[in-house]
Amino acid sequence: MERKRVYLDYAATTPVEKRAIEVMLPYMTAQFGNPSSKHCFGKEAKKAVGRSRDIIVNGLGIKGSSKMIFTSGATESNNLAIFGVARAMQKKGRHIITCATEHKAVLKPCTRLERDGFEITTIGVDADGIIDLQQFSDSLRDDTILVSVLHTHNEIGIIQPVQEIGRICRERNIILHCDATQSIGKTHFSMDELNIDLLSLSAHKFYGPRGVGALVMRETEKDFAIEAQIYGGGQQMRLRSGTVNVAGIVGMAEAFKVAEGEWQQDYLHYFKYRDFIKTNLQKQLDGIYFNGSQIQCCPSILNVGFRGLEIDDLLSEISEIAVSSASACGSENPRPSYVLKAMGQTEAESRNALRISFGRFTTQDDLSYFVERIIEAVKKLRKN
Ligand code: PMP
Repeated sequence: MERKRVYLDYAATTPVEKRAIEVMLPYMTAQFGNPSSKHCFGKEAKKAVGRSRDIIVNGLGIKGSSKMIFTSGATESNNLAIFGVARAMQKKGRHIITCATEHKAVLKPCTRLERDGFEITTIGVDADGIIDLQQFSDSLRDDTILVSVLHTHNEIGIIQPVQEIGRICRERNIILHCDATQSIGKTHFSMDELNIDLLSLSAHKFYGPRGVGALVMRETEKDFAIEAQIYGGGQQMRLRSGTVNVAGIVGMAEAFKVAEGEWQQDYLHYFKYRDFIKTNLQKQLDGIYFNGSQIQCCPSILNVGFRGLEIDDLLSEISEIAVSSASACGSENPRPSYVLKAMGQTEAESRNALRISFGRFTTQDDLSYFVERIIEAVKKLRKN
């Protein structure tokens, strides 16, 4: 029997918003100029990039001056933020703080910097996945130059206390980088309010095209320097060489505008979807639990644990449903989830988790189908 396909993996990627595709098309055809060219084609493209920058800066709640570097996505933005600040500011200090549950695009650059003599403090989280602010404060040193903490967690959906961390960083003149890839277009977000200096975002998580993102830099009175990681023609203030992806940038800005304007409509639905899944699974199955804080969270990501069940077995049973065992970007790594382990779960428990993430096109029908199929699959596997 042909089964219905259901997509519940919006934290991995999203389909591209139609309005974004429409505004992108001219920049791939008639208005194809290179923004660095001085002629009318180039000027037109440059203007479009500038307009896109303004849309994003305004939407991120930045009142003062700022800079934006367009990148290929959040992985590149995170790499530029971490390597860029570390290498430019090493005379001031060589100590960086991050958290054990960060995305690999933050953790791996930090590990690489250790080989160059930087010291990295990786702070832990509690059983709910939240950073302990006391541990964070205790780990600050006079030579700390950078703190990197994400906002919404990609695997468990919790929201870290970024505002408080930002306040402490401001008092101590330390740069705060925040990977906000999973928050943009899904919740109220202001870089000014959260005291964030550097922010990574990625278009394909908010219905923009894949392969485009940005590193946004808010200018404050803090000591700040960043060094390029990609060298060449010197485009983008010499901080990231290479011809920018004009169509991608224009599409990202349009998708951003739509998401900023409409996220509240979806937000309440997500709470209902969460409750529906939680109630039904708990009613019909034993050994169900939910990972990460259920209060300090972004409602579109739900992480469910199935006690005693290898999640890969479950995924093979429901292959017509798109959900993830861990973050999509980490799925080539051997399991178990390093995130759940950092939260104090055992090796076995951290193999039992499923990430479900909702988006703009999720329907109640999708959820009913998901619940029915998952209950059937779990019962079958537990009988074997
Ligand atoms: N950071 C977080 C929190 C993410 O969720 C992702 C994507 N899974 C990335 C970084 C990497 O983003 P990109 O795919 O744009 O490189």
